[in-house]
Amino acid sequence: MTQKRKITIARGDGIGPEIMDATLKILEHAGAMIEPEFIEIGEKVYLSGNTTGIPNETWDSLRSNKVFFKGPITTPQGGGYKSLNVTIRKTLGLYANVRPNVSYAPFVKTKHPNMDLVIIRENEEDLYAGIEHQQTPEVVQCLKLITRPGSEKIIRYAFEYARKNNRKKVTCFSKDNIMKLTDGLFHKVFKEIAVEYPEIETEHWIIDIGMAKIADTPQDFDVIVMPNLYGDIASDVAAQITGSVGLAGSANIGDHVAMFEAIHGSAPDIAGKGIANPSGLINGAIMMLVHIGQADVATRIHNAWLKTLEDGVNTADIAKGGASVGTMEFAEAVIERLGQEPTTFKPVVYNNSETNNENEFKLSPVASDRINREIVRELDGVDVFLFNNQHSPDEIGKKLEELAGPEFRLAVITNRGVKVYPGGFPETFTTDHWRCRFQKSEGTESISNGDILSLLSRIQEAHLDFIKTENLYTFNGELGYSLGQGQ
Ligand code: NAD
Repeated sequence: MTQKRKITIARGDGIGPEIMDATLKILEHAGAMIEPEFIEIGEKVYLSGNTTGIPNETWDSLRSNKVFFKGPITTPQGGGYKSLNVTIRKTLGLYANVRPNVSYAPFVKTKHPNMDLVIIRENEEDLYAGIEHQQTPEVVQCLKLITRPGSEKIIRYAFEYARKNNRKKVTCFSKDNIMKLTDGLFHKVFKEIAVEYPEIETEHWIIDIGMAKIADTPQDFDVIVMPNLYGDIASDVAAQITGSVGLAGSANIGDHVAMFEAIHGSAPDIAGKGIANPSGLINGAIMMLVHIGQADVATRIHNAWLKTLEDGVNTADIAKGGASVGTMEFAEAVIERLGQEPTTFKPVVYNNSETNNENEFKLSPVASDRINREIVRELDGVDVFLFNNQHSPDEIGKKLEELAGPEFRLAVITNRGVKVYPGGFPETFTTDHWRCRFQKSEGTESISNGDILSLLSRIQEAHLDFIKTENLYTFNGELGYSLGQGQ
C-alpha cells in the first residue's frame, strides 16, 4: 500500500475555504494517500501587520513537504502589501506555470468546442521582478528583466512537457518587434532550443495577434510558451473562453517544490455563499496527484468529474441561469460518480510511468555557463538620465556637448525614448526625464567606469541633476542596447 504523502495545504481567502473543503472531500473519498499539514497564509496574516502575507515559520513546512496545495489568496489593495503568489513562486523557484485549458462542449457552453491547449507561462521574471522606481516627479519605471537561463529553463520545460504529453506543436508568443532585446532574447532562445526537438512543430506569434487567435481559433494551438505577463493575461482569456474561469487548474513547478491551485482568484463577490465552482481547484488537485505518483486516484477523480459535467450537474457560473447546485453538492455529485467513466468525453488515463516526480524537473544543465565564458563584453558608452524641468533640449544638448570630454561624444538626447536633440520636433511631448546618450568618441580606444565617473562629476559640477545611469555594452561586437526612436 502506498505511504501517505505529506502535503502542505492553505485553504485560502474568499471562496478558498469553500472550494478547498469540497475538493479535499473528493480526495478523501477517492482514496488519495495524502497527509495534509494546514498553514495559515494570506489576508489574515497581511492584516495582522505582516506585509508579506506569510509567517516566517510557514516556509519550513513548504520546504520540507515540497508539495503545496493552495486555495486562492486575497491581496489587500494598497498599503504596500506584496502579492503572496508572486513571493511564493519566486522564493521557491517555481519557474514554470502550467495551465491547461480544455473546453467541455456541449456540457459547458462555449464558442470553442474543440479547444485543448496548454499555456506554459514563465513564472519568475519579466515585469514581475517587481523592481519599480519613481525617478522624477513625472516619471515612474518598472524594469522588465528577461534572462537567458530563465528563458532556457521555461522553453526547455515547454518542449519536454510537449514530448511527455504527446503534444505535437509548441508556439512561442513574444513582442520582439518592439522589445528587440528582452522579448528578442526569449524568441531567440526558443529558436535555439526548438532544434533539439525535431519531432515537434514550432511557430511564433507576436503576442497581440497571438492573443487574438486564442480568442478566435484556440483549436489551432497545442502548447504555448510565453513570458510572465503575457502568460498571465493569455491564460485568463483562454480559461474564460472554455466556458468559465472557474474550470482551470494550474501547476507551479520548480526544481525542488511544486504548488498546485486553481487559476482564478478568491472571488470576494461570491464568497461565503456556497455557490463557487470547485472545478479549478479539483483540476489543480488532479495535477498534484499525478505529480506525487498517485495517477490512479487522479484518473478516478478526473473521470468522475467529467461524468458529473455530462450528467448536467453544474454550479451557477456554468449553469448560467439554469438549474444549479452549490459547491458542496457539486463535490458530492463527483463523489457519487467515483469509479464511473464519461460516455461522451474520452475517458482519461494517467500513468505513473509518465508521472512528473520532483527529480524529473532537474532539467539538463543550460548552456549559459559556456555561453558566458565565450562572450567578449566591451563598454561602448553610457546613458545618463537627467531630471530637468528648466532647460530646453537645445540648452541641455549644448551644455552636455561641452562636458562630454575627449572620451565621449553626446550621441542623442531622448525623452520617453524619442529623439529631441539634435534636431527634435517642437510637436514632441516631453516630460521632466531626459535620457542623454554618451558614446565612446572616435579615436578613443577604450573607456572605463572611471571615465564614466569623471563624466558624471563634470555633469554634477555643471548643476545638472542625474538620476540614474545605464552602461552601454557591446557583446561580441553586437550592440547590447536599443537605439532611440529617430536616432
Ligand atoms: P477572481 O478570479 O477572484 O474573480 C473574477 C470573477 O470570476 C468574479 O466575478 C468571480 O465571482 C468569478 N469566479 C472566480 N472564480 C470562480 C469560481 N470558482 N466559481 C465561480 N465564479 C468564479 O478575480 P479578481 O476578482 O480579480 O480577484 C479577487 C482577489 O483574488 C484579488 O485579491 C486578487 O489579488 C486575488 N487573486 C488571487 C489569485 C491566486 O491566489 N492564485 C489569482 C488571481 C487573483
